[in-house]
Amino acid sequence: MEQTRFEGVRTAAIHAGEGPNPVTGASAPDIVMSTTFLIDPDVAFSANFLTDETPFAYTRWGNPTVAQLERKLAALEGAESCVAFASGMAAITALLLRLLKAGDHIVMSDVTYAAASELANDTLPHLGIEISRVDTSDPERVRAALKPTTRLIYLETPANPTLRLADVSTIATLAHEAGALVAVDSTFATPISLKPIELGADFVIQSLTKYICGHGDAIGGAVCGSHEQMDLLRPMAAHLGGILSPFNAWLIMRGAATLPIRMRAHEESALAVARHLESHPKVTRVIYPGLPSHPQYELAARQMKNHSGMITFQVRDGLAAARTLSQKLTTVHYAVSLGHHRTLVVYLHTADMIRTSFHLTPEQEASYRKFAGDGIFRLSIGLEDPADIMADLDRALAEIE
Ligand code: PLP
Repeated sequence: MEQTRFEGVRTAAIHAGEGPNPVTGASAPDIVMSTTFLIDPDVAFSANFLTDETPFAYTRWGNPTVAQLERKLAALEGAESCVAFASGMAAITALLLRLLKAGDHIVMSDVTYAAASELANDTLPHLGIEISRVDTSDPERVRAALKPTTRLIYLETPANPTLRLADVSTIATLAHEAGALVAVDSTFATPISLKPIELGADFVIQSLTKYICGHGDAIGGAVCGSHEQMDLLRPMAAHLGGILSPFNAWLIMRGAATLPIRMRAHEESALAVARHLESHPKVTRVIYPGLPSHPQYELAARQMKNHSGMITFQVRDGLAAARTLSQKLTTVHYAVSLGHHRTLVVYLHTADMIRTSFHLTPEQEASYRKFAGDGIFRLSIGLEDPADIMADLDRALAEIE
């Protein structure tokens, strides 16, 4: 019997969406790898009318293991329903293509995860969709960018890599007054920190690859929202085909079970490391939403229940330092991605980011450079002992000029 209501988030993370197998009594979820299921001859073959209650017929349309994860994620996000995808990018692509049509307008954070920016900048205009990139840390800029054709406001909070925050409830209110929908990529925050749906957003996007899986061994993505919206998105997943493998769903579900306690440890260690870096002689700037020096510290305190484990920092001559750090770090891996149990660091070179990913106006470029200088290190604090993370960083930083 599957339990559906939970008092505490730790209980929900473990039990929501799953329950013992009624036939075998297995306590842990099964991995159902079958691509096909025995069906009723009267069942329709179109993916157009799929809901989260449609009987299983073919795994691209729905799968029992994936459905368990979807129910768990919906419960954690406080949403009615959820659709899982093969990756965070598959989730973002499906959502944008589902919602937007030629003649529509989207307002999007000027800086987002690079591939989401590239997708929006390079693909949406070809489809006749108008895009305005604005600094969404300022709700007034969002309001000023709205047009009668605005269908969607797309936020990332905290944004990758600036760790800029967007005030979700203020922006949701002004979006709805203008007849627009709001999607929030909440990958850095996770549902443990932020519940965008409860703050008024229509969609929450997660790269499950990051904190929710938590162990760096499965790629996945998800969108959560109302039954009505998810019933429109589900056929899109089936038609684009970027669906989550049951094996990855199972790994991600196992990760999700410990998300609340992992996020607490990520936050605790990140705060210790951020404070340490702030007083480090070789470090010129640290940005972390849990530090009073974060430009939106007050919003972070109001909106986020957990400051998460993402830090950015700068040193002089960052590219040369990146070469040294990549050679000298041992506990900390010099690698992309984030939210894993292992601490990861990577250097994001400003000129590269601007040339390849962001199409910024001169004012936006100046604002990005003010934050990032020539480049920043994005540090994802893992679950190792914080003293070991700091010692490894100190050893490697001692080697730079
Ligand atoms: N959203 C954010 C904020 C990300 O950082 C990433 C990846 O780094 C994605 C989306 C894309 O996720 P995936 O790599 O699972 O496609």
